[in-house]
Amino acid sequence: MNILVINCGSSSLKYQLIDSKTEAVLAKGLCERIGIDGSLLTHQPAGKDKVKIETPMPNHTVAVKLVIEALTNTVHGVISSLDEIGAVGHRVVHGGEQFATSVIINETVMKAIEECNDLAPLHNPANLIGINSCKEIMPNVPMVAVFDTAFHQTMPEKAYLYGLPYEYYEKYKVRRYGFHGTSHDYVSDRAAQILGKKRTDLKIIVCHLGNGASVSAVDHGKCVDTSMGLTPLEGLIMGTRSGDIDPAICDFICQKEHLSPAEMNNILNKKSGVFGMSGVSSDFRDIEAAADEGNKLAQAALDAFYYRVAKYIGAYTAAMNGIDIIAFTAGVGENNQVGRKEICAYLGYLGTELDVDRNNVRGEERIISKEGSKVTLMAIPTNEELAIARQTLALVQS
Ligand code: ADP
Repeated sequence: MNILVINCGSSSLKYQLIDSKTEAVLAKGLCERIGIDGSLLTHQPAGKDKVKIETPMPNHTVAVKLVIEALTNTVHGVISSLDEIGAVGHRVVHGGEQFATSVIINETVMKAIEECNDLAPLHNPANLIGINSCKEIMPNVPMVAVFDTAFHQTMPEKAYLYGLPYEYYEKYKVRRYGFHGTSHDYVSDRAAQILGKKRTDLKIIVCHLGNGASVSAVDHGKCVDTSMGLTPLEGLIMGTRSGDIDPAICDFICQKEHLSPAEMNNILNKKSGVFGMSGVSSDFRDIEAAADEGNKLAQAALDAFYYRVAKYIGAYTAAMNGIDIIAFTAGVGENNQVGRKEICAYLGYLGTELDVDRNNVRGEERIISKEGSKVTLMAIPTNEELAIARQTLALVQS
């Protein structure tokens, strides 16, 4: 069965068509600038040239129509008709407390996702638009929602409650949810498989280090803590997000700079992190290049980023009372050997021994610790689309 995986943003739509039998990506692509001038569809069929189609996309329904046209096109298509799409898997950012697993989408599910809009105002409405557009064009194809938050729903109360008046949890569901759950689930599972062990026998820390970054503690197969919170702003220092700060800083800066809470929120999300600290870029490659040329702020940003990751690893080792595997994933985690080395330099007390040669790896699954290291270190490329396709298949076949 072919499964169409959709990741819909407010003005973009990413897709992959995956053959569930071989798990091969038949085609993937991106619609950009939906609802804005200059809409563009970039379609990449496997083994063929990339196609760029510039055509107006006033809304997501038109974008989905164009995606189907691209997939079924006689020249750059990969299937002959819509009938060859057996199911659609949608990435949905926030499932609140309602969804601890992926679900087949029906009217009740749509309503429940809508109820979570408050918790992810930038993402969930866009995800719903994507679902509605696909339903319009493929009314008879089963669809599944896969939530970024679901994997973390196993966290105990002590990990998800904030030190705030309890009424805010009761009234508004203010608590830690965590994000990147599909990635933390996939990578922790792969880590166990690579060692030929069961995830339910292991204590694993997953460091998802991309533009957005988070760490999770996966204890015997269940997430027991994660660094992102009510929103993806908490935790690690990220590309442009601050991560953990003293909450009193917000009011302090708002008063000094005459900012509104919304403006402050924007600064914390878009102008902070290694970008704000270094003044160079949000991209780790640029920051590393600047640091190599002697830019002290760039080096300070990198040092703070690595240090924060190491602190979380320490905290989650304590939370699980031990650790068997530390897995690095996403853009920086998969590709940046310097970053992994700097983080692992803090972990000697755990008996971890990074193997410098093995660590010289990019975008490949590999054990990067020495034989005999007390904790196994790994680099594992994440594959959220494949994870979504697998979960979609499991639900539509059940
Ligand atoms: P997101 O999906 O959150 O946008 P990614 O997982 O794609 O982010 O990660 C983006 C980050 O990964 C960037 O900061 C980039 O510098 C880093 N990255 C990607 N490829 C490499 C590489 N080959 N070497 C070093 N860093 C890399």
